[in-house]
Formats: sequence, C-alpha cells, structure tokens
Amino acid sequence: MAKRDYYDVLGVPKNADQDTIKKAYRKLAIKYHPDKNPGDQEAEEKFKEAAEAYEVLSNEEKRDRYNRYGHAGVDGQSGGFGGSGGMSMEDIFRQFSNIFGDGDGPFGSFYDAGGTGAGTRTRGQRGTNLRIKVALTLEEIATGVTRKIKVKKQITCDVCNGTGAKDSSSINTCPTCRGAGYVRQVRNTFLGQMQTTVTCPTCGGSGTTVTANCPKCKGDGVVYGEETIEIEIPAGVEEGMQLSMRGKGNAGLKGGPPGDLLITIEEKPHDLLQRDGMNLVHELYLNFADAALGTSVEVPTIEGKVKIKVPPGTQSGKIFRLRDKGLPSVQAYGRGDQLIHVNVWTPKKVTEEERILLEKLRDMPNFQPQPGKTERGFFDKMKDYFK
Ligand SMILES: [Zn+2]
Ligand SMILES: [Zn+2]
Repeated sequence: MAKRDYYDVLGVPKNADQDTIKKAYRKLAIKYHPDKNPGDQEAEEKFKEAAEAYEVLSNEEKRDRYNRYGHAGVDGQSGGFGGSGGMSMEDIFRQFSNIFGDGDGPFGSFYDAGGTGAGTRTRGQRGTNLRIKVALTLEEIATGVTRKIKVKKQITCDVCNGTGAKDSSSINTCPTCRGAGYVRQVRNTFLGQMQTTVTCPTCGGSGTTVTANCPKCKGDGVVYGEETIEIEIPAGVEEGMQLSMRGKGNAGLKGGPPGDLLITIEEKPHDLLQRDGMNLVHELYLNFADAALGTSVEVPTIEGKVKIKVPPGTQSGKIFRLRDKGLPSVQAYGRGDQLIHVNVWTPKKVTEEERILLEKLRDMPNFQPQPGKTERGFFDKMKDYFK
C-alpha cells in the first residue's frame, strides 16, 4: 500500500513548526487511540500512521531527509537500523510517554501496561540506551562496512536468567495482581472516564515477587559485562549521523526489555581527499611548465589511482571532474563525483640559474596575463562546481 504524505497525515503545512506538528499529532492520537476504539482496525491503522508521521516530522534530521527524498529517505535502510517503518505498538506508546510526560500522563498508563492490554505487557524495567561512536575512513564510508565491536554494558545475568531470583522456589506469584502484572483501574482522564490497565504496583509488572535474590546480580537480573555486536554501517554515512540498533542497549532490569544501541558516526580525515557532501575533492599541484605544456598525472581516488590528462595551457583554479568517483548516497541511489582542483605551483625560492631563466621568460609576450572568456572568475567556477 502506498504511504500517504506525512504532512497530509497530520494535516499540517510543509513549513509547520514543531509546536503545530505536536498539537496535530496529539489530536489524532487521542481520536484514534486503541483504548478509545477497541477492536477498530481502521482506527488502529490511522493511529499507527499518525505516530509514524510524527516520528519523522518531529525529528529535524529525519524531516529534512523526508523533504528531500520522500519516504525512501526515512524508511528502514539496512537490517536493524531504525527507520520510521514498522513501529511497534510499544514504540508508539514509548513515544507518547516522551511527548506527553512519563507515567502520569493520560497515555503513560497505557504504555506501562503494555499498550492495549492484549497480553503484551512489559515485564521489569526497560534497559537504558547505550551510545557509542564509530570512526570510519572515507574508504569504509564509500563501500559500507560491518564492524564487530565489543561493547561494555549491562547484560542479562546468566545465573538467574534475568529474573533476579536465587532459584525457582524463591519466585512467587504476585499476590496483588495474581501474576497478571497489571491491575485494572477506572480513571478520569480528559478523554472521559476510562477503564485502564496499569502496572501492578507490587511487582512492577513482572507478575511475580522474589523472596530471595540471586547472589550474582543481587536481584537486578543484570550484571556489568560485555557483548560483541556486529554493526552493519551502510555506505555514504556522514559525520554526526546517528544509527540505532533496537534492543542492543543495556539489558532491562528484572527481565525488562533492553534499551537501544545508538551509534554516532565519526569521519577520519583523509590525507589526499576531502569530502563535500557526496563529492570528493583533491587538490592537485602542478608545476608551471607542466601546466603550460600539458602532461598526464596520476591522481588518487577512493578506489585507487587514476591517470588524467592535463591539456596545455591549463590555468590555476581549473576543476576537472571524474564522474561517479565520489561517495554513494546513503539512500542507496546516486553517487557523487571527484573534483580535481588545479593549483599551479609557484616556486617559493629560486636558485641563480632558475632566476636567469625566469628573468628571460618574464618579458616574453605569451607570459603576460591575457584573461579571456574561458578564464572565468571565482564565482563562475563555483557555479560550475555545484552544477
Ligand atoms: Zn542474577
Ligand atoms: Zn503484581
């Protein structure tokens, strides 16, 4: 099914500010909330659609990508990376508790009880997100790379399997909720009086109480350890870009769901190539005689050396373009160019012999600057450069 435009979904103009977007989403979320429309499949779809639109438009980076590339720019790219597609109900309720306040808001209880109360309750406490940085060379960015990284983090305790209990006999069914993990409550909300399910205050949603704690984790269900995580980084990423791997953060307390791993991309500087978006720029220095007489030179590219012809009479400032020798787009279509910026090298000091030769050349007619139409100025070249 073709996705609707996110601005249409929320009913806001393209230039809407964050406040307008938030208000529009809040209105839709209340209208189509599953607890207000039990069993209504269409309402649930609308509810999810609105959450997805909000997820993208509320994030400036994602919104920018969406504006430029449409849905293709923000949908999940490779494997585990969080695009906007396929948000689970739990994600949506978590998003709610971020926007409308944690726990006490009209939606907090829905999240704590695991959404619609359809048996998807959350046990324990969600693990925190973990942030790491990954530094990549331009070569790695050009091809994309899979990194195995040892991450120090909270992992599930292997003695108690995350339950936090000493042994199975020290786990008892919670007397308050009789194992359900949640209790029903009638609440007065701004949606009117509603029966909601809330996390059981006695067991915190686990449905069990523990009489004796696990000796290794002291009841937390987690211990400090490390995990080797395989991170697949798509080609074309940029400095400062953030990728997320769902569920690869810290393990949750007492069997709660894990947090996410957030990966920030760092770019290592390259000796010979500089990045400009998808393009790569190489500063080429030519000796004056080569520029005047023409030559062929080897220039570095991201895929190795390439020979290029320098025609006679090449001016300093000339830009040669190697098509498709730049970086791929992170959206997986298109590739940048490599630009070769010519600098004619002027000797910084000269020997006596060189001085005599230069003095001879100095007054010769072809050595007098005669800029014509083809020797365009800086601003014209910049236009060319961005064409
Ligand atoms: Zn344990
Ligand atoms: Zn309980």
